[in-house]
Amino acid sequence: MQSRVALVTGGTGGIGTSIVKRLAGMGHKVATNYRNEEKAKAWQAQLREQGFDVALARGDVSSAQEAQAMVQDVERQIGPVEILVNNAGITRDTTFHRMTPEQWNEVICTNLNSCFNVTRPVIEGMRERKWGRIIQISSINGQKGQYGQANYAAAKAGMHGFTISLAQENAKFGVTVNTVCPGYIATDMVMAVPEEVRNKIITQIPTGRLGSPEEIAYAVAFFVPDEAAWITGANLSANGGQYMGW
Ligand code: NDP
Repeated sequence: MQSRVALVTGGTGGIGTSIVKRLAGMGHKVATNYRNEEKAKAWQAQLREQGFDVALARGDVSSAQEAQAMVQDVERQIGPVEILVNNAGITRDTTFHRMTPEQWNEVICTNLNSCFNVTRPVIEGMRERKWGRIIQISSINGQKGQYGQANYAAAKAGMHGFTISLAQENAKFGVTVNTVCPGYIATDMVMAVPEEVRNKIITQIPTGRLGSPEEIAYAVAFFVPDEAAWITGANLSANGGQYMGW
């Protein structure tokens, strides 16, 4: 497979780290963003020890200006972005009748506006070069909704509308746009949920366990090769069978 340039947002997180490693392991040049330099440098050193060389660029994906500067920095370091994985995300869970405007806006800005902020600076280059891969990491809860997550479910469902519109606009330019929808994955985000609640969630998963970040990275990698050029506007659910709708 030809070596490409990949940008994975939120690459230092639980799922992001696995995506970064998977793409680097496929021979691609990979970069991710950071907000805390010290934390990111420690992560980078850890990956280097494992044999993965990852470029870092500062940037908060909820800011259009920072995202643009981040993309420029990545492109200066390793070349024009050919694969973009919109993975950075947060939760600010609470029932809607208690939700503050800050909790709503933070989640929408980080999880959904970020797709605009980071994709906008890379899309024209992909169209000009006639090759690109854009992959959104949405969530099972964007498909089925979730108690206490109106903000998160709205943002994650919005990513699907984004995906299928961009897929239509860019198909003729060799740019595919797809979504991966993870179910519950054993990362800090899910391990922060009280054990009792987590165990209840596991009883709803047909495979009887949480997923692993590597299993999500595998789903992301599926969309990357040239052989995947016919697959665009798709959603790939990776959720242990917990939800089998769209
Ligand atoms: P983590 O919390 O482990 O990682 C999140 C990553 O996003 C971190 O690198 C974090 O960086 C980064 N990030 C957060 N906010 C911003 C921001 N404003 N600007 C730049 N970077 C930011 O989460 P997961 O790995 O568990 O989740 C990754 C994605 O998968 C998310 O979109 C999540 O919604 C989705 N998902 C996760 C599931 C799960 O079970 N874990 C299930 C379904 C979907 P920093 O260190 O600076 O905070």
